[in-house]
Amino acid sequence: MSLFSVIYSKKFLKHDTGFKHPENPGRLLSIVKYLKNSQISSKLNWIEPNKIDINQLLIIHTSEMIDNVQSICLNGGGLLDADTPVCSESFEIALYSAGAWLDGLNEVINGNPCFVLSRPPGHHAEKNKSMGFCIFSNAALTAVKALEIESINKVAIFDWDVHHGNGTENIVIVNPNILYSSIHQYPFYPGTGFSNESKINNNILNVPLASGTKWENYKVAFYEKIITEISNFSPDLIIISAGFDAHLNDPLASFELSSKNFGEMTTELLKIQPKALFGLEGGYNLKALTESVEIVIKKNIEFFKL
Ligand SMILES: [Zn+2]
Repeated sequence: MSLFSVIYSKKFLKHDTGFKHPENPGRLLSIVKYLKNSQISSKLNWIEPNKIDINQLLIIHTSEMIDNVQSICLNGGGLLDADTPVCSESFEIALYSAGAWLDGLNEVINGNPCFVLSRPPGHHAEKNKSMGFCIFSNAALTAVKALEIESINKVAIFDWDVHHGNGTENIVIVNPNILYSSIHQYPFYPGTGFSNESKINNNILNVPLASGTKWENYKVAFYEKIITEISNFSPDLIIISAGFDAHLNDPLASFELSSKNFGEMTTELLKIQPKALFGLEGGYNLKALTESVEIVIKKNIEFFKL
């Protein structure tokens, strides 16, 4: 019987962001505990991730940026930006987090649906700077590496985290074989994502929506813009930057989605391309986060009849 792959390591708990930081180890601890007690627990195959080689990061980040993170961590930790504290082990753990996404890619390519439960998240990390709780750009790296696979000629990323994934966009905008699409609260952190910032490759679809947006309006944007664009692009792989801070109960943002709305989006994306990799970004209400991750996995289990 085939199972649903979950990439996770206890190592991710060692990335210490300090007292009361919203992006803390409790997020993953809650999700893992919830899944292990869930009725779907017998369908899950837990996989320990590999670390990526630093050289692989040079595909998406500058050596100065990588060196900066490494030296701050080697010196005992500090701040990469005002919101992004790191401890002495964070550099190493960020290499495992990026590695987890690449291992997830491997699972999906081999026909195993997969969710990557890793931290630190990545979608705010730009080519030359870490920011917004993110150290390295996991989704962008995965998209670029996927294109090295013979059967993968086009990759679509859909970023349903409530924040615009400025980092992913910043890195993939130069690559016409990657489509980056995002629905996000605007105006809001990080300040980007108002429009399709560059028409150079016509590969960015930003859908900014106002604070207070409910599913009723969100779903119009999702179906009419995101689903249409991704279908037309006809990708060989979809990567979902799955943050859950667009949830009604999230403390950091002001969209009003429910957990089941993430489930509906999951099924629609799988219908376009069953090779779809889900990877964790934000999401800071533990109940909303855990329920939403479970629903995304449940919808995969239903879709693939696992
Ligand atoms: Zn977010």
